[in-house]
Amino acid sequence: MKKKIYLSSPHMGGNEINYINKAFYANWIAPLGPNVTQFEISLEDYLGVGNHVSALSSGTAAIHLALILLDVGKDDEVLCQSMTFSASANPIVYQGATPVFIDSERETWNMCPDLLETAILDRQAKGKKPKAIVAVHLYGMPYKVEELRTISEKYDIPIIEDSAEALGSSYKGKKCGTFGDISVLSFNGNKIITTSGGGALVSKNLDQKNKSIFLATQARDQAPYYQHSEIGYNYRLSNISAGIGCGQMEVLDSHVALRRKMNLFYQKLFSDIEEINVFVEPTDELYSNHWLSCITFASTKPGFNPDGLRSALLKENIESRPLWKPMHLQPIFNETPFYGNGVSEKLFETGLCLPSGSNLDDEERHRILVAVTMYLKERRNG
Ligand SMILES: *Cc1c(COP(=O)(O)O)cnc(C)c1O
Repeated sequence: MKKKIYLSSPHMGGNEINYINKAFYANWIAPLGPNVTQFEISLEDYLGVGNHVSALSSGTAAIHLALILLDVGKDDEVLCQSMTFSASANPIVYQGATPVFIDSERETWNMCPDLLETAILDRQAKGKKPKAIVAVHLYGMPYKVEELRTISEKYDIPIIEDSAEALGSSYKGKKCGTFGDISVLSFNGNKIITTSGGGALVSKNLDQKNKSIFLATQARDQAPYYQHSEIGYNYRLSNISAGIGCGQMEVLDSHVALRRKMNLFYQKLFSDIEEINVFVEPTDELYSNHWLSCITFASTKPGFNPDGLRSALLKENIESRPLWKPMHLQPIFNETPFYGNGVSEKLFETGLCLPSGSNLDDEERHRILVAVTMYLKERRNG
């Protein structure tokens, strides 16, 4: 069997191990320490002035704390992009609140501003003003930042920017991860950079950062003994994981460039194939890190569809994956309110994510090229 080509696998820069060794040497084997502080500072430097970062154990934890900071509680409603990974929505339920799912627009595959406004008006008419908006930059593609911000301000509903997939992306020259009232990053093993598992909450003021760290470390009051006036969580990032993060920040820009090179590879590979479109930025105001490169089939027939290609690649030990299954189609959310236009369902039916790692080499790209070309040829002849 040929070596497996993964969709997106961890890619170390080399220096990570030195930060980990330093932590061992100083016995900082804890959910605090110099690597945590340095990792936060390097993220703050990267995102720019006015962004305060708390390093957490996961992106999911960051979304959970963001909801708590925005005072989302029992029986509240939170507007959430339907086309996303379940971690965008689950923390809403942790809080006893109800998600209200919003479909996507065609250009960026992210939350449709028109439907968002329709939903707000309808929820208000039904007697409940939503508490927050969870908007996602799916696959690294920035959502319609200005359109969503306008609606957020018009109705005074804060945005939680789920930038878990979009570190290194930007919109009109400004970095993703800076557009929310609170923003969220993930460093899970398959993301653009990894800490093996981890995440971050990005806030706009120090009070909010400090509050998030307080909540993430069991909400301990200032007292010599353990006293608690609030429910806390164990959500802080460990100093070992943060060491990996410090090393990864050194190679973030080069890894974004390599992911974008993978996307160009697919643009070229499919350039003559009319029925297959590579997902790219609709305008040059958007800059995607192309965390995952995706294609959609303009027309599908038996054998010529995302699953056909997925099976063909799998035979060559090449991993590919359907797009995120929209939340409104998930069994667990089948009773949940949804404002739809058919876009995310269509994407789910026609789309496929292809190997996108920054660590793929020429030989692996060649194997992908051969497997795809064979598949297309067989389809043509058959
Ligand atoms: C990965 C991801 C998350 C959650 O991050 P974890 O660190 O895995 O908890 C949230 N939202 C989206 C869109 C993601 O892709």
